[in-house]
Amino acid sequence: MESNLYVVIFTILDYSISMRFHIITIFPNSFDSYINESIIGRAVKNKFISIKFYNPRDYVKDKNKNGYRPVDDKPYGGGPGMVMRAEPILKAVEKAMSWIAKTKNLHVKPKIKIILFSPSGKKFETSYAKKLVKQKYHDIILISGRYEGIDERVKKILHAENISIGDYVLTGGELPAMVLIDCISRQIPGVLGKYESLEEERVSSSEVYTRPEVLKYKGKNFKVPKVLLSGNHVEIEKWKKI
Ligand code: SAH
Repeated sequence: MESNLYVVIFTILDYSISMRFHIITIFPNSFDSYINESIIGRAVKNKFISIKFYNPRDYVKDKNKNGYRPVDDKPYGGGPGMVMRAEPILKAVEKAMSWIAKTKNLHVKPKIKIILFSPSGKKFETSYAKKLVKQKYHDIILISGRYEGIDERVKKILHAENISIGDYVLTGGELPAMVLIDCISRQIPGVLGKYESLEEERVSSSEVYTRPEVLKYKGKNFKVPKVLLSGNHVEIEKWKKI
């Protein structure tokens, strides 16, 4: 009887976190300020999401002659730059997986998605974020690359999804991981407060205005569109949809 009670309490606690993000990165500190501020910071505090870091460097035993524990190596076939080695990343993912297994809901098979970032991956969109929330993925593992990218075998071994956040090349996968966390989290019911809202819950407009009605700037007057001041809601909604 008592142990059943523990199971119930454990389950409630575990599932109070809607989504857990596990980030594989050699630069975990680069996330600090963003994930602690505003809506994402509040989502963490209120336990809608949790964010945990796993540094591949922690899984490299031997130091090289410069005193570093190398997570990268020269590319086969030659070429400029360095490639992130598979083993430290696989070990970091194993660590995340074992934590997921340890803290899983006893009644539900954990739904895990492994995402690997690369500029040539499938383009990330809001619809993908919505799908992950709707399909109740509980654990998302995000693998951020650096240098010239990650040894391709990581993707194959982990059956990871290859995701790009846009047609441009960044120096690392940390910003892409933050982009996903932000976009996915705001889809989780309860994360947005009463002053924020999801697109589908409002008649959205990319053109928005607030006070003053006439903005004076460098001798010129910039006015709010008349229709928004008209009080005619039918006309206002029509204008917003344009
Ligand atoms: N040589 C690679 C570029 C590597 S950029 C190429 O030409 O494809 C280094 C890392 O930054 C990548 O491994 C990835 O994790 C991340 N990255 C860079 N641009 C990205 C983008 N647009 N979307 C997602 N990840 C990106």
